[in-house]
Amino acid sequence: MRDAGSFRIGDYNCWSLNDGELIYPGWTILPPGAQPPEHLSAPYIALLVDTGPVRVLIDTGAGALGPDTGKLLESLASTGFSPDDIHLIILSHGHPDHSGGMSQFPNASVVIMRREYEFWTAAETRAKLEAGRMYGLGPLEALIAAGVRDHLEPARDRMRLLEGPTEVAAGILVFPAPGHTPGHAAVLISSRRRQLLCVGDAIVHPAQFEHPDWVCAFDLAREETVSTRKLLLDRAAADRCLLAGYHLPGSVGVVERWQAGFRWERIAAAETA
Ligand SMILES: [Zn+2]
Repeated sequence: MRDAGSFRIGDYNCWSLNDGELIYPGWTILPPGAQPPEHLSAPYIALLVDTGPVRVLIDTGAGALGPDTGKLLESLASTGFSPDDIHLIILSHGHPDHSGGMSQFPNASVVIMRREYEFWTAAETRAKLEAGRMYGLGPLEALIAAGVRDHLEPARDRMRLLEGPTEVAAGILVFPAPGHTPGHAAVLISSRRRQLLCVGDAIVHPAQFEHPDWVCAFDLAREETVSTRKLLLDRAAADRCLLAGYHLPGSVGVVERWQAGFRWERIAAAETA
């Protein structure tokens, strides 16, 4: 059994659920100016929030995408919950490293921004991915097309498409945070004046706190990615809320302004209550 990192946001119990990791070519995650290493390991970390009446899972892990992914259920087991205990899945966006575990939670309803779902399921998008022309990543893009076909589309009948900022459960606000993908969403969890901002893939590497202008090969709209990231970081620093990201190592941290950018300090779970 894998240990899940547990912490509290006000009255809500939360867990960081590690799904594993995937090795990427360094240049796909960090720009040339960052002098990326040849390979970078990116963790995949979903978030479980138990509000009492509702248990919400933010992103679902990657399933069988890589040799060391698909461990979400092992992590979930350490929380004492089973897949049937999950009522609602929030998908930050349609990439397969976030949607690959959807079928493991067949009883959960799913929310995603309408713009995101309609973008990925459009015929034009599929044609570009199958030709390897969306990101310029060639055959890698077929994996994204397969994720849409295998994980997003089969869940359509249990999916609610959000038009804009929506409180999907008490104290859980899903709102547009576009750039990485057109309908990418972030989630703000609030309880008893405590807040956690879950940024999804608006920040994919810890170096982007100090260098919020750095984009990665998977950011579809680069300028929009950077402006969204700065908005989220400004908000997290001003409101002193905790911040978590799907590919950020560890559990949660606090953000503060630092030099020309920001600094993110991971904190121990026990300090969040
Ligand atoms: Zn991702």
